[in-house]
Amino acid sequence: MSFNLSSWLRFDPVLKRLFKYALPYKGQMVLACIYMVGAASMSSLTATLLGKLTDAGFYQQEAWVIVAAPAALIGVTLLYAVSTVMSTYMLTKISQSMLVTLRMELFANVLRLPFPAYLANSTGLVSSKFVNEANIALGGAVSAAVVLIRDSLQVIALFGVLLWQNWKLTLIACIVGPIAGVILRTISKRVKRIVRASQEAIAAVLSRVSESYEAERLVKVSNTYDFEMARFSPINEKIRHLALKKQVMQGLGTPVTQIVTMMGVAVVVAFALFEAQRGALTIGEFITFLSAMLLLMPPLQHLAGLNSTFASISVAGKSIFDLLDMEQEKDTGTHVLENSKGAVVFENVRLRYPGQEMEALKAISISIAPGEHVAFVGLSGSGKTTLMNTVPRFWEVTDGAVRIDGYDVRDCTLSSLRSQIAIVSQNVTLFDATIRENIAYGKPEASDEEITKAVRAAALTDFIASLPEGLNTRVGEAGNLLSGGQKQRVSIARAFLKNAPILILDEATSALDSESEHQIKLAIDELMQGRTCLIVAHRLSTIDNADRIVVMSKGEVVESGTPKELLDKGGAYADLYNLQMRSGQNA
Ligand code: ADP
Ligand code: MG
Repeated sequence: MSFNLSSWLRFDPVLKRLFKYALPYKGQMVLACIYMVGAASMSSLTATLLGKLTDAGFYQQEAWVIVAAPAALIGVTLLYAVSTVMSTYMLTKISQSMLVTLRMELFANVLRLPFPAYLANSTGLVSSKFVNEANIALGGAVSAAVVLIRDSLQVIALFGVLLWQNWKLTLIACIVGPIAGVILRTISKRVKRIVRASQEAIAAVLSRVSESYEAERLVKVSNTYDFEMARFSPINEKIRHLALKKQVMQGLGTPVTQIVTMMGVAVVVAFALFEAQRGALTIGEFITFLSAMLLLMPPLQHLAGLNSTFASISVAGKSIFDLLDMEQEKDTGTHVLENSKGAVVFENVRLRYPGQEMEALKAISISIAPGEHVAFVGLSGSGKTTLMNTVPRFWEVTDGAVRIDGYDVRDCTLSSLRSQIAIVSQNVTLFDATIRENIAYGKPEASDEEITKAVRAAALTDFIASLPEGLNTRVGEAGNLLSGGQKQRVSIARAFLKNAPILILDEATSALDSESEHQIKLAIDELMQGRTCLIVAHRLSTIDNADRIVVMSKGEVVESGTPKELLDKGGAYADLYNLQMRSGQNA
């Protein structure tokens, strides 16, 4: 037998770490072990009973044996069944509890990953770990534990029976073991590689499906059904290919052991018959020996398959721990930012995205007074969103500093920093919940009065009044039951409720038609009252009330001043303005 638990645990830190999750369930594990000891002893009892009863029946011609033999066999089998069911139940209970803990830890970490990590890992990849990998790791652990404990105990007990019956025969049987072991070791290495590849393939399918599914309208309007099918087909095929390869490899293990074992059995039977003819063996002893050998085969086969089970567990476990070990956002700041005045200062801010040659922000210095409304304009790609993302520390600056009320944002605790900032952007995030729950997201204790006020300020009162269920109307997945403008107003109401001193508006009205834009502009004007506002706007007409306009280009500030100053100056802003006037976007 090639299997060796201590070597697996020693060389496989993943298994060791998974095992730690089982430690809180020591009591249940002991109970499961007791059941497995029960199950294991039943099989050697069967072999012994068969032999004893045979001798009693054949030689001593005892009449009671005719009833006792079947009754004993049935009884022993019943006990075996009960202890097997109970042990598997206990182990499943343990593994499910471990799964709960593991998924909670995963979720906690996923929520706190830094912004760049979200861009680097697809939804499909991450969600697959919660379901597939977690199930493989811990579902596999249950069957591995059963095999490991019950089957190896069974092997030991049956082996004991063999030795006790006839040590010479047992020695012959022993030669078979190591030969099978060498073959199986080679196979298990290959299985591990295939397992890893197939788990990656499954994650790829999940990513592909979710991406294409969410792109349903684009797919329809672009008529790219064939293209999507063609993209899906190879990764789909790959799973089949790998599954078959794995099955072949795993499947080889069983018949190989079977053939090698049967060869051993054949030799042993020959010797046993020879001994019997010499009169050294009774029929009963022969039966006990033979049945013990045959009963040994299934647990030996299970043990032979254990390597590939452990390979799957180890690969899946590694994939889970990789996610669990991804570093969270650094929250090392200690200053608690409260009741901020809203003074925002960019001090020589530089930011280079990982792997990019050009800096997205090049030494930006802007000082924004409390309550000031500053608009950022510039062609797309000029770094406006990047700059906004440095304020709540979604991205860390590479050099320089962003300060709020004089405090470097890196020195503030993340939660206090972000409590002072509300963001309304082009991409509205709504949950599949009621309008009320969406507005009160982050502030579930909000009173009815506060909600009504936010709804009114966001110009949602009429719309909500027109709904039969009012505030309790569900908005559908990602808010899909609402129009773009309605979704945006829900997010504005959310910002009202948050009532933060600093407001970031990143293209809040860009995705809207002029009609909803007008309504939303009124709501936003209301929202902006009494707060420091950083406004990124595509349509210049939406920012004509700004105190100051900052024109950005290629990560640099090229101009800044009041709208009037910049128009009079006739520079970059005036060019943008005239461009929009001419193309009629300003209507
Ligand atoms: P804007 O909001 O003005 O349109 P962005 O701030 O989104 O511009 O982008 C500024 C530059 O940074 C662009 O050249 C863009 O390609 C690049 N960029 C934005 N996000 C990333 C990212 N996650 N990784 C690498 N480069 C990025
Ligand atoms: Mg942008």
